[in-house]
Amino acid sequence: MDSTAGSCNACGATGTALMKLSLGKDFFGRIYDRLSPSTDQSPKWYCEGCSMQKNLQRDFRDITAEIDKLVAGQTSQLSKSDEFQRATLRVREIVALLDAAQNRSPLLASGEVARLLERLKTITVPA
Ligand SMILES: [Zn+2]
Repeated sequence: MDSTAGSCNACGATGTALMKLSLGKDFFGRIYDRLSPSTDQSPKWYCEGCSMQKNLQRDFRDITAEIDKLVAGQTSQLSKSDEFQRATLRVREIVALLDAAQNRSPLLASGEVARLLERLKTITVPA
């Protein structure tokens, strides 16, 4: 596929440089499961702004999934305090990046991320 001929799979931008995103590892360093439809779709093309947000969306999803497990009492990456700290910092960073973005993200709503940050604040992980 010609990288300038298509349109961004998220916002539909055309005539701009597009990047094929291949998301090899997730936020917790695990190999990305490309066969799992809930976490990955077939490789797509994104413009610069959306490819950045796509990475944020991926981390947001990973962290949300791990919080759900933690709250449910299952084994979670976030039960390790260093991973929990790292995830909290990343969510703060995502909130800041979305707030600073010129265009509203078609991929990730800043309100959702803010709610995730609130959830993180209610959880105490033993050090
Ligand atoms: Zn785009």
